[in-house]
Amino acid sequence: MSQFLIKSIIAGKLLGNVKQPDDWFGLKYNLNLYRGCQHQCIYCDTRSECYQIEDFDHEILYKENAIELLRKELSTKRVKGTIGLGSMNDPYQPVETELQLTHRALEVIAEFGFPLHIITKSSHILNDLEILKKINLVYTTVSFTITTSDDALAKILEPGASLPSERYKAMKILSDNGIQVGISMMPILPFIEDNVENITAILEKAHQAGVKYIIPAFGMTMRDRQREYFYRKLDEHFPDLKQKYIRKFGENYSCSANNHEKLKNTFDALCRQFGISPKIIPYRSDVGEQLSLF
Ligand code: SF4
Repeated sequence: MSQFLIKSIIAGKLLGNVKQPDDWFGLKYNLNLYRGCQHQCIYCDTRSECYQIEDFDHEILYKENAIELLRKELSTKRVKGTIGLGSMNDPYQPVETELQLTHRALEVIAEFGFPLHIITKSSHILNDLEILKKINLVYTTVSFTITTSDDALAKILEPGASLPSERYKAMKILSDNGIQVGISMMPILPFIEDNVENITAILEKAHQAGVKYIIPAFGMTMRDRQREYFYRKLDEHFPDLKQKYIRKFGENYSCSANNHEKLKNTFDALCRQFGISPKIIPYRSDVGEQLSLF
């Protein structure tokens, strides 16, 4: 695991507007408190050049004026739409334990009464259970990213994150506390995770953990620096796999899972069997309540 240099920066603006409608994650605003991510997933898209994070694997930048800026920006928002945390980095990566930036941002969100969607791979979210319950008086949903239920495989693919078994335990605790929990099932890596056994295991464990929805994507996307890093890691852990990727996908951005149709059918059937929605269950401000889409 890399050692990370932690540096502060001053942000000019904090909340980004999300293009509407956001059918994937149900967001109105995007919030990123950090730049960079200590979870070091080998497939992470945020390594791509377009995100302009120079040293993604060695440096974490945190926005030291984030809390005052958030308070200022929320006080001027007329639409109380869902704020999303976790699109560009994990809000519960290890540095959060020390800096408590996510924790303090949640206190402000609770104070202003905005709905919230957190995406994470960390069981450390449980440290914020009480404040999440408070925000849930309006709406809280937590999507755990799960790409495999196999702890040993996840240690290779997502080396800095909580193990999938720990994530499932956290889901159950949140769910038992009345917080809506879902899974962001993406990416599903070709030749590694694109098998029926993996999809079935995720759905079964999701059901046991009280998951209400799963947002799936069968495959992965790849760009420049992200591809270079991913291929280096394939060479380290899965000899010969890089050649299969090159043969099948070349320079493609979109890299679809093998057996796409079969995986999708398995996913749909298990969602029906377990009563899990195959898409986000968003906050509906127009009726002031959460509506199930299925
Ligand atoms: S948790 Fe998300 S942002 Fe962090 S390294 Fe993994 S994929 Fe990237």
